Amino acid sequence: MARILITSGPTRQFLDPVRYLTNASSGKMGLALTKAALALGYEVIVVSGPVEVTYPTEAEVIDVVTTDDMLEASQTYFAQCDGMIGAAAPCDYRPQRIATQKLAKTGGPLKLELWETADIVATLGANKRDNQWVVGFALETEDARFRALVKLERKSCDLIISNGPEAMNADLNDVEILDRRGETVRKVKGTKQEVADEILDVIDRQLVRASTLETGKP
Ligand code: C5P
Repeated sequence: MARILITSGPTRQFLDPVRYLTNASSGKMGLALTKAALALGYEVIVVSGPVEVTYPTEAEVIDVVTTDDMLEASQTYFAQCDGMIGAAAPCDYRPQRIATQKLAKTGGPLKLELWETADIVATLGANKRDNQWVVGFALETEDARFRALVKLERKSCDLIISNGPEAMNADLNDVEILDRRGETVRKVKGTKQEVADEILDVIDRQLVRASTLETGKP
């Protein structure tokens, strides 16, 4: 049976011991995808940033805080998985320097130098084995379809799920599932659970069963 990795939730990048940058993500999509994958009988490993949602006990949950933690855990667990779904919203920037003590206010502006963090989906996609697959998400405010396809290519994804900013923290979602040929596989609108069930159905048909047919291994 397929074993899959799901990244979920936001990550945090600290400026000092009490302040951090983050990304708006509730973990609701990661939770819905986890439930959908378990319902298909998959084994699920969730690498999750800090979230309020509770994942099903049948899933193995690895808690992380920073993007580097998420990358490290994802690389470790991806090695034992058939595929991964990147539903997390990792914080893309980290302060160049983390103050060891709380930064005191000065009455003036605080200048921060931010460096890009690693892209987890792109790193895993670039190093995946021939029989492994990677599914990413793209949240865009304009040119959604085109930008999603650029990301699919850049991050070596097998499928990409294009959604809009309305998805953030919401219970509903409206997505388009795109494949490597640039074709729309399915458009789905509904609760995050309905959307997740459809995404897993596409993954099961196009990626999991296809790789089982190729390798002959269940
Ligand atoms: O580039 P952008 O953040 O829009 O790409 C979205 C996809 O990339 C999502 O699947 C998200 O989980 C993943 N991602 C990642 N690591 C990052 C940023 C995004 O895995 N640092």
